[in-house]
Amino acid sequence: MYSDRALVIGAGFAGLLAARVLSESYGDVVLVERDTITADVEHRAGIPQARHPHALLARGAALLEDLFPRLGAELEHAGAVRADLGSDYLIRVPGGWAPRDHLGLDVLSVTRVTLERIVRRRVIRLPNVSVVDGVRVEGLLHDRGTVTGVHGRRGDRPFTDYADLVVDASGRDTKLVSWLAEMGVHCPAPMIVNGHVSCTSRLYEVNRDLKLDWLTAFEVTHAPGTRRGGSVSSVDRLLWFVTLFGADGEVAPADEDGFLEYALGLRCQDIAEIIKTATPVSGTYRAENLRSRWNRFHQVPDWPRGLLALGDSVVSLNPVHGQGLTLAAQHCTDLRDLAREHDLAAEPLVFQRGRQVRQDAVDRRHDRRPGLEQEEAHADDAPAAVVLRPRARGRSRQPARLPRVRPRLAAGRPPGDTAAAVGAGTRAAQRTAPSGHRTVTGTPRDRA
Ligand SMILES: Cc1cc2nc3c(=O)[nH]c(=O)nc-3n(C[C@H](O)[C@H](O)[C@H](O)COP(=O)(O)OP(=O)(O)OC[C@H]3O[C@@H](n4cnc5c(N)ncnc54)[C@H](O)[C@@H]3O)c2cc1C
Repeated sequence: MYSDRALVIGAGFAGLLAARVLSESYGDVVLVERDTITADVEHRAGIPQARHPHALLARGAALLEDLFPRLGAELEHAGAVRADLGSDYLIRVPGGWAPRDHLGLDVLSVTRVTLERIVRRRVIRLPNVSVVDGVRVEGLLHDRGTVTGVHGRRGDRPFTDYADLVVDASGRDTKLVSWLAEMGVHCPAPMIVNGHVSCTSRLYEVNRDLKLDWLTAFEVTHAPGTRRGGSVSSVDRLLWFVTLFGADGEVAPADEDGFLEYALGLRCQDIAEIIKTATPVSGTYRAENLRSRWNRFHQVPDWPRGLLALGDSVVSLNPVHGQGLTLAAQHCTDLRDLAREHDLAAEPLVFQRGRQVRQDAVDRRHDRRPGLEQEEAHADDAPAAVVLRPRARGRSRQPARLPRVRPRLAAGRPPGDTAAAVGAGTRAAQRTAPSGHRTVTGTPRDRA
């Protein structure tokens, strides 16, 4: 048996951060991953979402910087694009164009492959962290209410490994609920908000001479009224990620003509403009039925000692809002802070419930949202789930409002746009209309 060992299931984003954090309090940290991992592995089966854009929000970037000093600079050196969420973004909501002004909130736009490669290199460089790859974990080893390790398969051979602390970071498709049930531990129904969202994405190389006054153009869906949306964002220097969103079961076609036609139907024509003028450098990839799911592990009274869960294993979100990486970073910085004061193997609910303080606030907001109603329903991976779904059409046709980002911001209204804009004023109006939603020449900085 080991006396000072942590084992993390999954070497994805949250698993890597968890290993980094646990390396401070455990003598030996092992990441057990089903895919084959080399220092420079690019696309792999376990991370299908890497075919879609990954924006790192300001809070997530700050937390990562704390865990990995100068990571932001390293990512930018590798091609990540830093964009101000106000001035560098063109955002179309159903109610109109969002105001464009400097917010001081940066979003890092990076390919998931680049982000994970750079974080992984930093983590596996740590002397007490190692990776065991090619292992599919299939269950937990346990003894009298304490998790003592994992079992699974490595190729054709059985695999077992023991640790004082096992952390599940196996992502959106985690089997932890079933593994706990095999131990006789039962979890409450997960809460699911299913907007039946889809993302269809393709990478393009844009002509070097193309000058735009934005770095990301984004048209938001708002079902049931607005079921189609899309985004295009600059990533890894000359590449542009185009994603077409569908909500409420809408799915963009993956064939060339259909993809363009779907984009041509959006209000934000810049997305179609990129598709028409740029060169595709990848296939077209689709992710469907992207629901938000929250496993309420904090409510399990007999949660076993020696086990934690974090990242998408606990909460996997509708990716359109780009929050998953930030949430995983929050989980892991909480893990670090709590591990300094508690023996989390002996008191795992200190961590699972600590996270809960924020999740409860999110939960209450969902409950209050006028467009959502709650019901019990059956989900694929659990006996029952609490599902929040939009109210039937006709009952919630509430006009979308532009976000009240900063009251003093002005909202320009592009010509012909009938939407109400919040707090109209001169300065942003000059920037937004009429060129704020079009492809123009000149760099963003030139035009600021
Ligand atoms: C289409 C899409 C777009 C997204 N865009 C954004 C975005 O713009 N911004 C953002 O912040 N977030 C985004 N996300 C969310 C983000 O990808 C996740 O929140 C993040 O990857 C969570 O990290 P994780 O480590 O929990 O899971 P993952 O990164 O998915 O890692 C799970 C790991 O566990 C491994 N694994 C699984 N099962 C086993 C097993 N049984 N045994 C061993 N290993 C196992 C997998 O191979 C994988 O390596 C997006 C998600 C999707 C689906």
